[in-house]
Amino acid sequence: MGDCQLLWSKVLDVIKTSASPVVFQAFFSVVHPLSLDEDRFVVQVDSPLVVDWLRQKYAATIEATLQQLCGRPIRLVLQCDASATTVTRNEVFPDDCALPSPPDPPVEFSLGVRRGRSLPSNLNPYFTFENFIVGSSNRMAHAAAFATAQNPGRVYNPLFIYGGVGLGKTHLMQAIGHAVLSRDERCVVHYVSCERFINQFIEAIQTSTLSKFRDLFRSSIDVLLIDDIQFLSKKEGLQEEFYHTFNDLHNQGKQIVMTSDKSPQELEHIENRLVNRFEWGMVVDIQSPDFETRVAIIRKKLETFGKTLDDDVCYYLANRVRNDVRKIEGALIRLLGFASVQNKPVTLEMAKECLKDYVTAQAPITLESIQKAVAEFFDVRVGDLRSNRRPKMIAHPRQVAMYLCRDLTDSSLTDIAQSFGGKDHTTVLYACRKIDALKRTDEQVEQQIAALRKRILESTQGTV
Ligand code: ADP
Ligand code: MG
Repeated sequence: MGDCQLLWSKVLDVIKTSASPVVFQAFFSVVHPLSLDEDRFVVQVDSPLVVDWLRQKYAATIEATLQQLCGRPIRLVLQCDASATTVTRNEVFPDDCALPSPPDPPVEFSLGVRRGRSLPSNLNPYFTFENFIVGSSNRMAHAAAFATAQNPGRVYNPLFIYGGVGLGKTHLMQAIGHAVLSRDERCVVHYVSCERFINQFIEAIQTSTLSKFRDLFRSSIDVLLIDDIQFLSKKEGLQEEFYHTFNDLHNQGKQIVMTSDKSPQELEHIENRLVNRFEWGMVVDIQSPDFETRVAIIRKKLETFGKTLDDDVCYYLANRVRNDVRKIEGALIRLLGFASVQNKPVTLEMAKECLKDYVTAQAPITLESIQKAVAEFFDVRVGDLRSNRRPKMIAHPRQVAMYLCRDLTDSSLTDIAQSFGGKDHTTVLYACRKIDALKRTDEQVEQQIAALRKRILESTQGTV
């Protein structure tokens, strides 16, 4: 028992580095190690929802980590409600991800995917094109990734995808791997985080197995997916090694895909000759998703959970977290978990309660900022909105502003009424109902609201 506790805590250390703290807390608090034997590691999971999530998102990482720590392949068994479920990734990915029969002998530089079907890929089974929502923020990146997957080594080589944290770079990169493998299972696709590449290199030097390392990276791979390349910064020896890896693969017409948190030009302390090569093929960025894309991502995640949520809750979630998809997922999981523990259906009130203190780093949308944006939009003064004047050219913007205050903030009707020059809360309620009804019947009003919503959200996004 002691052993497996210790082992589990080491696994958690690894996962912590890649999961957001909130997701980490939400999930792993209900996961407890039970036992470890020759080739199975059994953990107890207290929530069925978390079982699915673990299976989809973390099983591969956990198994890889266990293998590294124990020096032998170990299967993760998730146990929920006393009925043990083996992590057969087959459910998600019928053929390619069959569980490994123990490979002979576990080697330190084993490839994620070998020719033939015997080994599973080291790709996260969830990170496919099918599960990737395309919106204006990632359309270019998606198109480039898709084209690359259709024709690896030919169209964009290398493909360089950059953008902020949690915007889908790893997902998109691995989707290429899945798509290539689904077309030709004999292809050797290797996904590696830059950090792991670095560690393997160091290990190779320490154990005098550099030639094996080079063989692996320079001549056995058809598609190399190398994640978070910015970590090469300031590591001259590694840059040298990667430079040669890159050249060898590129010369052989092998596909290289890289991700980074910055564009090649913005990368610091990386040799020019490397930066130069990063730009040889195609460089694309991923931006923060807009409102519609965020809602679509939430719906997609719900679909994978087999759950549904009312539109108002989806919109609330999409507004609550705006520029990190990983955090959107975290919020969703927290909410679903909250509802399942309470055994109640999710309501907007519950969502507000449950996510009240979630993502405090988000710049808040204030009542004042909404009033200002609306006033500018309709070309009236903020003072007019707060006044009691009733001409239509002022009454309508005022009602729109009240509606948006209700929609985009957590403020009470009374607080909103106060901020409009001390009005009565029934005035706000009336305005909300009126605009809500108008929005359904009057296309112009619908467009006004959409445009304003976008402006207000974007103006706060930049300040986070
Ligand atoms: P990054 O590598 O850019 O930090 P990830 O690729 O790890 O981000 O994405 C974070 C999470 O958000 C993943 O669970 C991923 O599935 C999800 N995600 C990001 N973008 C999208 C998208 N466009 N559609 C669906 N899921 C997305
Ligand atoms: Mg990533």
